Amino acid sequence: MTLRLFNTLTKTKDAFTPLDAKNVRMYVCGPTVYDFAHIGNARPAIVFDVLFRLLRHTYGDAHVRYVRNITDVDDKINARAAERKIPIRELTEETARIYMEDVTALGCLPPSVMPRATEHIPQMVAMIEQLIASGHAYAADGHVLFDVSSKADYGKLARRSLDEMIAGSRVEVAPYKKNPMDFVLWKPSDAATPGWDSPWGRGRPGWHIECSAMAGQYLGDTFDIHGGGIDLVFPHHENEIAQSECSHGGAPIATVWMHNGFLQVEGEKMAKSAGNFFTIRDLLADWPGEVLRFNMLRSHYRQPIDFTLAGLRESWKMLERWYDVTEPLANPDPSNEFFDALSDDLNTPAAITSLHQADDKALAGGLGFLGFSNVQMKISTKARADTVAIADAIAARLAARAAKNFAESDRIRDDLLSKGIVLKDGPGGTTWEVKK
Ligand code: AMP
Ligand code: ZN
Repeated sequence: MTLRLFNTLTKTKDAFTPLDAKNVRMYVCGPTVYDFAHIGNARPAIVFDVLFRLLRHTYGDAHVRYVRNITDVDDKINARAAERKIPIRELTEETARIYMEDVTALGCLPPSVMPRATEHIPQMVAMIEQLIASGHAYAADGHVLFDVSSKADYGKLARRSLDEMIAGSRVEVAPYKKNPMDFVLWKPSDAATPGWDSPWGRGRPGWHIECSAMAGQYLGDTFDIHGGGIDLVFPHHENEIAQSECSHGGAPIATVWMHNGFLQVEGEKMAKSAGNFFTIRDLLADWPGEVLRFNMLRSHYRQPIDFTLAGLRESWKMLERWYDVTEPLANPDPSNEFFDALSDDLNTPAAITSLHQADDKALAGGLGFLGFSNVQMKISTKARADTVAIADAIAARLAARAAKNFAESDRIRDDLLSKGIVLKDGPGGTTWEVKK
């Protein structure tokens, strides 16, 4: 079965042929680390993890290189660090660590390389210098801007002409820009803002150049797959293409561009102000990571997802039913239908349907492949069952006491104690804790 992937650049689903089957390369834009990641941010992490697993399965673990960056220089980061009165580095390290813990709980393998923007400033400066030397960028007022008029096919990913872009966007008009669509490669920093010395004075990079420089560093001028959420098509990815192609003698940055659709919550755009904002961390307090992952994969990655708690409950029930009949960790081979579905532009809903029909062995393999290990599920399912059983026992003990059947109420208390559960009677009722 040939892997076929939908390419945002061509708008067609094409057979995937790596440039080098011994070194298959993928870059995915990672998080800007200033706050807890939300469940929408989990989507690219999970979707491209499935692709990473599929590529490793097809080409061999040692022949796939997956790079996901960490954006640790950004004005939102500066503002948040100032607000919390902590050093920027402390904020970015803490947030990056939490992000890794979160996506690990969602069953995502660590990417091969996770470069940080602040550790690649010299590469960004070198790329900008080259863009200036080749007439694609200009310095003005401590800024360096990319000259979009210097690239005839600027807009090819977003499929918009320069005129349409200017008409349709609220671009920042600045006196130092030649064209309103010219975008920042470098900008000046004041004394209170992080900055690095450069030929244009002390400053910091623009967001887009970070990804171009890090992708070039770890994957070469041209690599196989570049991914991210659909919101990144314009301007971020369009600008990455412009920068990288112009500094690499016109060589394309990636053969295939892939974008996951957006996730909404209960039919609405997720926003803190709307009160429907879920961080991964909050959800993990109530739901096993596997349920969150499985729920995500029940939709095709290019479709929008309407995330609902009812959907999560359904996903939990479905997984539990499967775990009753199988042991995913054994990891035998999944069925052909399963791989046919995944190879068809990562059709995870069809792959999941094939698991419904599979025998136990194929089902177990499929679950393992999708990144589910039932260990965590079993623990949280057991914890949930225990909680219910303890609450039932407490209610039975209360009823026994009300009926003055103290032999029975003591028996229930001792029974729980023998299982390590200590009951505490207080004015607000009976609570319990695990015996220390
Ligand atoms: P950010 O940290 O905002 O740059 O986002 C990190 C990644 O999450 C990017 O690939 C975004 O496209 C993606 N993303 C952000 N919000 C959502 C959402 N609601 N649904 C799906 N993907 C999202
Ligand atoms: Zn990026």
